[in-house]
Amino acid sequence: MGRRSDNGATMAFKERVFSGVQPTGNLHLGNYLGAIVRFVALQENYDCIYCVVDLHAITVWQDPNELPRNIREVTAAFIAAGIDPRKHIIFNQSQVSEHAELAWIFNCIARIGWLNRMTQFKEKAGKDRENASVGLYAYPCLMAADILAYRATHVPVGEDQKQHLELARDIAQKFNNDFAASIAGHGFGDTFFPLTEPLIQGPATRVMSLRDGTKKMSKSDPSDQSRINLTDDDDQIAQKIRRAKTDPEPLPHDQAGLAQRPEAANLIGIYAALADTTPAEVLNKFGGAQFSTFKAALIELLTAKLGPVRKELKLLLQDPAYIDAVLAEGSQRAQAIAAETMKAVKDIVGFVRRA
Ligand code: ATP
Ligand code: MG
Repeated sequence: MGRRSDNGATMAFKERVFSGVQPTGNLHLGNYLGAIVRFVALQENYDCIYCVVDLHAITVWQDPNELPRNIREVTAAFIAAGIDPRKHIIFNQSQVSEHAELAWIFNCIARIGWLNRMTQFKEKAGKDRENASVGLYAYPCLMAADILAYRATHVPVGEDQKQHLELARDIAQKFNNDFAASIAGHGFGDTFFPLTEPLIQGPATRVMSLRDGTKKMSKSDPSDQSRINLTDDDDQIAQKIRRAKTDPEPLPHDQAGLAQRPEAANLIGIYAALADTTPAEVLNKFGGAQFSTFKAALIELLTAKLGPVRKELKLLLQDPAYIDAVLAEGSQRAQAIAAETMKAVKDIVGFVRRA
């Protein structure tokens, strides 16, 4: 167990995908293209576990009257996009207490210096850092626990989560090193946790705000015009794209021409991801065109692709009992795996536990 292949990946671990989305409201096109569409594609070749990470959500204030709806909405979006909750696992994080338990162990593995480098904390805490929650600071340790509770080997995420995944690898490696003798002594060979591979792929790993091509599209952006929500109807989508910030030049013929044009690059990337092609192909088709022409084509594509997902999402939301049953069943199956990991971790660390 734990032998390394030439590319540094750990060979002996069962290949397993884990990823999560926060129920913080306003699920948007960035979440869809950067994460959920990738989740759907990976079902073919991997065992997948997809989590509605409600423990992460409360690192910033969530209204208890809205949180249940947001949890159900992310769940419904997973299913509406095409994730099969029978073949794979869909659940919400707070129903599997092992996430929080393993996160505590990782709080004691990760170093304060490592967390101090995390850019998401700096962005989310803003100027008033003293007033941010301790949870927001420790967020990456919980994320490492989410992944490693299942000893997941692959994690599909958007570009913004790359740094947190690197931290998860650092935590896994330090745990493997610090407890090497105990890991071997308990029969787990020379590596207990895999060094998880990030899967950051496709033309839309960082979808940008429609109002500012240098800022990522985000659930928490106060401007609704900055994002396409998965619940937006065709008219709202059309209006937001028509108003999306652009520049006065026609579209370039190749990608080099997008270098200093973040808004143009963003819209081309969105088109490419939706059409399942590359930005180069999109520019082949639209190079030299005015934005008005391109935006009309983009609106048509967006409404065609998102319409069916929105309809399914809305239908599912009318049946909260079904969604809750998916989460209940998924969390039982997830817990069966996480509990085994947690027992082993307790033995490795040296805790006394009942059999
Ligand atoms: P919040 O503002 O509450 O952090 P968020 O929009 O960043 O919300 P998350 O739930 O934190 O959403 O992230 C869910 C997944 O969506 C992650 O894999 C993340 O990398 C991905 N993601 C988020 N924003 C974008 C984006 N603009 N482009 C591509 N992927 C994104
Ligand atoms: Mg986020």
